[in-house]
Amino acid sequence: MFHSDNPLSNMMVLETSKANAILTVLQGCNNLTRLKKIQAHVIVNGLQNHPAISNSILNFCAVSISGSLPYAQHLFKHILNPQTQAWNSIIRGLAQSPSPVQAIFYYNRMLFDSVSGPDTFTFSFTLKACERIKALKKCEEVHGSIIRTGYERDVVVCTGLVRCYGGNGCIEIARMVFDNMPERDLVAWNAMISCYSQAGYHQEALRIYDYMRNENVGVDGFTLVGLLSSCSHVGALNMGVKLHRIASEKGLLRNVFVGNALIDMYAKCGNLDGALEVFNGMPRDAFTWNSMIVGFGVHGFGDEAIYFFNQMLEAGVRPNSIAFLGLLCGCSHQGLVEEGVEFFHQMSSKFNVKPGIKHYGCMVDMYGRAGKLEKALEIIGDSPWQDDPVLWRILLSSSKIHKNVVIGEIAIRNLSQLGAVNAGDCVLLATIYAGANDEQGVARMRKLIKKQGIKTTPGWSWIEVSDQVHRFVVDDKSHPDSGMIYQKLGEVTHKATMAGYVEDKSQFIFHGSCSEECLESSSTYHSEKLAIAFGLAKTPEGTSLRIVKNLRVCRDCHEFTKFVSRAFNRDIIVRDRLRFHHFKGGLCSCRDYW
Ligand SMILES: [Zn+2]
Ligand SMILES: [Zn+2]
Repeated sequence: MFHSDNPLSNMMVLETSKANAILTVLQGCNNLTRLKKIQAHVIVNGLQNHPAISNSILNFCAVSISGSLPYAQHLFKHILNPQTQAWNSIIRGLAQSPSPVQAIFYYNRMLFDSVSGPDTFTFSFTLKACERIKALKKCEEVHGSIIRTGYERDVVVCTGLVRCYGGNGCIEIARMVFDNMPERDLVAWNAMISCYSQAGYHQEALRIYDYMRNENVGVDGFTLVGLLSSCSHVGALNMGVKLHRIASEKGLLRNVFVGNALIDMYAKCGNLDGALEVFNGMPRDAFTWNSMIVGFGVHGFGDEAIYFFNQMLEAGVRPNSIAFLGLLCGCSHQGLVEEGVEFFHQMSSKFNVKPGIKHYGCMVDMYGRAGKLEKALEIIGDSPWQDDPVLWRILLSSSKIHKNVVIGEIAIRNLSQLGAVNAGDCVLLATIYAGANDEQGVARMRKLIKKQGIKTTPGWSWIEVSDQVHRFVVDDKSHPDSGMIYQKLGEVTHKATMAGYVEDKSQFIFHGSCSEECLESSSTYHSEKLAIAFGLAKTPEGTSLRIVKNLRVCRDCHEFTKFVSRAFNRDIIVRDRLRFHHFKGGLCSCRDYW
């Protein structure tokens, strides 16, 4: 060992080696009891004010999962003139804690009281807290400090700003910050994609990918998960398949997050074979199983949903409430009432999963579809959710399918008592009256809609054509190809008519079935008709058309699509607000029940 004649120097060497030994022990520390023992040792050796040691102890308590935030705050209080690193530890720990607002309190204190200035980490942890508690004003204020302290060119800080503005719904500002970044790493690109995706700007999210390709930026698992989520929402299967290929090239198919996102994308785009292929080649967690069960369930494949449910039990995965949702949905759509009822009971009795409103909704729907409307009414009575409009609305739908005026009126009476009647509900009841040839009932509903001025939700449809997602609204004239689309629609309508389609011109006065879109416009140019005409014009013969619609499909459009699928020999898959319709050869998978 090194010796010096100077006793002071000797002591310092000894102290340094002690401090280093303690720091090494601290690095390996993984629980609080052990940490406190080390801390005792630190005090015995008089090293409690050693900056690296006190920072290391504080950081463990504030950030580690086996730490303790209250203890970290206690320690922090006793630090004289805390350095930036100490502030960062406490802000970081609080930003990811259940009360992120406290991180902002510390940030404020740091700015006003401390001699230590904020750095990259201070800003990014504080922005994280602002994002989590949706504190837009504070985010703007932090942005100001970032500019003042010269951090506006820092890639980590800017990425934090993008996330924070995005999370607060200011997508345009997020994009502005992103565009102004002098350089962007993959984390920044991913943040921008996830901002768009989470805000429902799916076309924009997918466009970022083109931008990435132009800039020669590669992708990772996070990029793929973000993009796939947008593909799922807008039904962009072609793009999804392309991302699947990229995942495979990059060896990311065994990444469970990417795998789950792919399964979800395939299932939501109505391609269950694709979902199955991914499922068979990946490690599985509870989400994987749920995605398969829900995927098959919402497509009406009850038997398959049950099969995957049993496989999941065999694999030793505990079913959660989502698994049961998929299961019940499948049973409901396939008409497996007995099985559905059995699973519904097993949920709480055998698996200790408390049924939620969505599970009750499935049960009401299941009895309703099967024509057991009294049973459906009973289920609502037995549920804790009689004061929620959701279940009554499902009952109203079932009453429409079975043309049951009595139950339909009970449903609307309850909705009206809850102050929750919307245009769609009135349309449903009017349709029931029309089916029963009750002209007065129809007139009453029309008056109700007029009198209350009930707002309709604007209808729109999305279609993916060669990697681009196009959006249409009723009577849309905004598309650059608008002239061509209307011309094509004329031709398509003519051909469908030759195949037997009769345009239901009376629908807007409530004969036959109708949707909210019919209230919006008495014309026949509903958004999905425009999307279909566009799809037929722009894709080669035989290509399937995939359309996503935010409202229910109306009777007229449903008939139209059936005849188009036959006349043009195309598979047309429409995902509306509630379910999938696979149109093929003049028939629909929903068997006209929706
Ligand atoms: Zn329509
Ligand atoms: Zn259908």
